[in-house]
Amino acid sequence: MSVRSLGLSDELHAYLIASSLRDHDALAELRDETARMPEARMQISPEQGQFMQLIVELTGARKIIEVGTFTGYSSTAMALALPADGRIVCCDVSEKFTGVARRAWTRAGVDGKIDLRIGPGVATMDALIERGEAGTFDIAFLDADKANYDAYYERALVLLRVGGLVMVDNVLWSGRVIDPGATDADTQAIRVLNGKIQKDPRVTQAMLPIGDGLTLARKRA
Ligand code: CA
Repeated sequence: MSVRSLGLSDELHAYLIASSLRDHDALAELRDETARMPEARMQISPEQGQFMQLIVELTGARKIIEVGTFTGYSSTAMALALPADGRIVCCDVSEKFTGVARRAWTRAGVDGKIDLRIGPGVATMDALIERGEAGTFDIAFLDADKANYDAYYERALVLLRVGGLVMVDNVLWSGRVIDPGATDADTQAIRVLNGKIQKDPRVTQAMLPIGDGLTLARKRA
């Protein structure tokens, strides 16, 4: 996990931010607030947030599902890029973290675009599928517990329309994916899903070294 892209020197990262970030007050405040929390490293990097805003615009997305909302940085960023009638279903298990997110959504004026579901992501996704929302989402952003990544990925492919995009966060996992000593369930789950997506004929994919590694996979059919 990292709040900045891997592998850049401090100086080059500072240059990247100084020369490309268009910040929003609500996002800057949220970074400051989250930085004071022990779990601060779970927040996506500002350059990744801006990249995801561009993805929302490029895809013309109106309906997004996010699994793992934490304190709301990615959802706030994406909601700012959505049209007025756009919607993000935000899934998280934590009232504490999403309490921070709620304040950020209000400050950014995007709370009307957010549909927060507190509960396990798999159950929330299954409920959406049961309610007939399969094939209706434009983007799925997966950033919750890594042990369930495959379960989220499979459900995301069901919920996405053909041509929709799944974005999988932390696919480089601070480099632990190449550490032979890292045999914990989270790291193993990330390795397994990375290998699966590489060969998955259902998607066109690319793995980007932005933030902690972000895979983009477009649903083909
Ligand atoms: Ca993440």
